[in-house]
Amino acid sequence: MPSPDLILRNATLPDGRTHQDIAVADGRILAVEPAIAATAHEEVDCAGQLLSPPFVDAHFHLDATLSYGLPRVNASGTLLEGIALWGELKPQLTHEALVERALAYCDWAVGGGLLAIRSHVDTSDPQLLTVQALLDVQKRVAPYLELQLVAFPQDGILRSPGGLDNLKRALDMGVQVVGGIPHFERTMAQGAESVRLLCELAAERGLPVDMHCDETDDPLSRHIETLAFETQRLGLQGRVAGSHCTSMHSMDNYYVSKLLPLIAEARVGIISNPLINITLQGRHDSYPKRRGMTRVPELLAHGVRVAFGQDCCMDPWYGLGSADMLDVAHMGLHVAQMTSQAAMRQCFDAVTTTPAAILGLEGYGLAPGCHADFVLLQAQDPAEALRLRATRLKVYRRGRLLAENPAATTALHLPGRPAQTDRLHRASAPARGAT
Ligand SMILES: [Zn+2]
Repeated sequence: MPSPDLILRNATLPDGRTHQDIAVADGRILAVEPAIAATAHEEVDCAGQLLSPPFVDAHFHLDATLSYGLPRVNASGTLLEGIALWGELKPQLTHEALVERALAYCDWAVGGGLLAIRSHVDTSDPQLLTVQALLDVQKRVAPYLELQLVAFPQDGILRSPGGLDNLKRALDMGVQVVGGIPHFERTMAQGAESVRLLCELAAERGLPVDMHCDETDDPLSRHIETLAFETQRLGLQGRVAGSHCTSMHSMDNYYVSKLLPLIAEARVGIISNPLINITLQGRHDSYPKRRGMTRVPELLAHGVRVAFGQDCCMDPWYGLGSADMLDVAHMGLHVAQMTSQAAMRQCFDAVTTTPAAILGLEGYGLAPGCHADFVLLQAQDPAEALRLRATRLKVYRRGRLLAENPAATTALHLPGRPAQTDRLHRASAPARGAT
């Protein structure tokens, strides 16, 4: 083994392996095995805690982030008022303010161990101010965060004049992924037409596709079917993702039994956004109110990749959020009722390995040869990380320490009891292999 410059000792890995040492040289992983004999200039004792590859967010809007309250808040809490509110804010945007807010969010992300983000960028404005700003941000954060940009026609490519041309110009400027919003086009037919045009554009240019697809409670919004069909027809398998797909929650079960194998066959990835779906969907319902999130366990059972995204953070659609992917996975777990040990592990994967695969990240993972990108969590395993939204003790990228957070403790001073330090609600872990 070449001489390592960093060794992380005694880590537990997300797959359950314990007492693992990870040796790193020149920003790549050299070896992952128990008790590595070599020594390094820098050695870190992980004390048996969970070492994961970094969090990945497959769905975000960096151009709108941290604008909550500008120029007012969303009174109805609906998707459509959010879109209208974003329309009111757009004329007031400046390059400097966009860059400043996006950089601030990226700082939060790194502090929380989130080192890769796929952000949609609105291409509706002919000036493409948002696109310029996020391309600028992408360059600035490149040394510490991988940012992928999706050309997102918020106002529709057919519904808004010049929509398709603006989107193409954004791609010409260097945006890497083709987006879309078929459920916002004027009719179902135009929505389907937009999917066809955008997939053909992606095929021509050799680009991936990630569309906002069926973000509605209307069970007849079936653009995901068209997206799977066009993926198959144009040979785009493995390069296409459908985001949200909330209408699937409300669809007829018989139809879904036909749809799920079509999505799997076309290898279309699905990106669900639990925090946003549970707050925006079902707003037209009285009681009972639908949850609105797509059918995550059923998609997974069909072999479809399903990632969980943050989507929004303090913007016209959502007044909360903190770039914390464990919060996102925690909500996804609850809304989808993924409470078995295996399902909780899938929820952890949905903010780490699964979005990394959908984004096509090179060198992601904990195997020799992968980038030395890690987050050390104050937890024993993925389920405990989710339960406690565990402190991210250390965040590394390419073997370099980017962020540290002090371990969470509580000093208790209870009458009639000796002073003690809380053990962070630690309970004994379930027996390995429990499901
Ligand atoms: Zn979105």
